[in-house]
Amino acid sequence: MRSTPSRMSRIARLAAAAAAVAGLTLTAAIATAPAATAAISHRSPFACGKTFYANNWSPGHNPAGSIDWQSYGGDAIAGESVLATAGGTAYFDNEGSTSYGKWVKVVHSDGTQTRYAHLDTMVRSAGQSMAVSKGTKLGTVGSTGGSSAPHLHYEQRFSGGSVDTSPTVDGVTVPLGSRIAVASNDDCGGSSNPYTPGEVCGSAFDPIDSAAVTGGRVHLMYNPATGYNCVVTIKSTNIGRASAVSAFLEVQGGTRTTDSGSYAYYAGPVKKYAPNACVRWGGSVGSSSYTSPFEHCG
Ligand SMILES: [Zn+2]
Repeated sequence: MRSTPSRMSRIARLAAAAAAVAGLTLTAAIATAPAATAAISHRSPFACGKTFYANNWSPGHNPAGSIDWQSYGGDAIAGESVLATAGGTAYFDNEGSTSYGKWVKVVHSDGTQTRYAHLDTMVRSAGQSMAVSKGTKLGTVGSTGGSSAPHLHYEQRFSGGSVDTSPTVDGVTVPLGSRIAVASNDDCGGSSNPYTPGEVCGSAFDPIDSAAVTGGRVHLMYNPATGYNCVVTIKSTNIGRASAVSAFLEVQGGTRTTDSGSYAYYAGPVKKYAPNACVRWGGSVGSSSYTSPFEHCG
C-alpha cells in the first residue's frame, strides 16, 4: 500500500514533466506562429505551364536559402518572363557587373519581401518603383551581375530581413539543399481568355457566325475588303495551358484546311478566299466539336 502513493506521485511527476515538455513545445509553436500565419502565399515567378528547377543549393549560396531557378529539360530559362510572386511595391535596381546585376525587390503588404536577380531586362529603369500584383511582369531572366549562366536568383525574406531558407512557391516547399522541379499552375484557368476572334483573325474581319462547343467557341469571320473567311476556336477552359483545340475551314468544291494542336489559348486562324462561295467551318475543344453545313454562300 505504501508503494501505491509513491508510484502515483511518480506518475504525477512524469505527467508534470510531460506537461512541461508540451508547454515548451507550445511556447515554441506560439513563438513561430505569427510568422507562419502572417506569411502570404507566393505563386511561381513564371507563367502557367512553365517548369523549371528550383535549386536551393548549399553550402556556398549567398545568402543561404536563396533559390536559383534553372532550365529544366528542354525548357531553357533564358529570356523567360519573371513575374512577381505576390503583390506589393517593386523597386528596380542595377548593380552593373557585380552581385545581383539588374534586380528587383518587391515589398509585400506584411513587410516581407522577395528579390529577383541577374535579370536581362526590367520593366522599369533602375531607381524607379511601381505597384505590382501577384503575376505582374518584372523583367526577363538573364545573367547580369555575378552570374555565369542565365538563371533567376530568387529570395523570400522575412520582414526582419532574414532569408526564409525553406521558401514555398506555388504550394511547393523547397528546403535548404534541395533541387525540385516546380511547375507553375498559376493563371491556368478560371480567368477569361485574353484573345478575341478579331485579334486573332485581324481587325478587318467582321463576325459572321459562331458556335459553342464545350470549353470554347468556334468563330467564323469575314473580311469584306479581301473576300477572305477566317475561322478561330477560342478556348474558355484550360486557358493558358496547352490542351487539344482545332479550327477548320472548307470552301465548297475545295479542300479542308485544319489547324489542330495542343494550344494554350486558341486554334487558327484558318483563312481562305471565299467571295460568293459557300463554306463549311468548325472546330473542337477536347472531345467537343462543331461542324457547320455549307452556308454563308454570299
Ligand atoms: Zn543565386
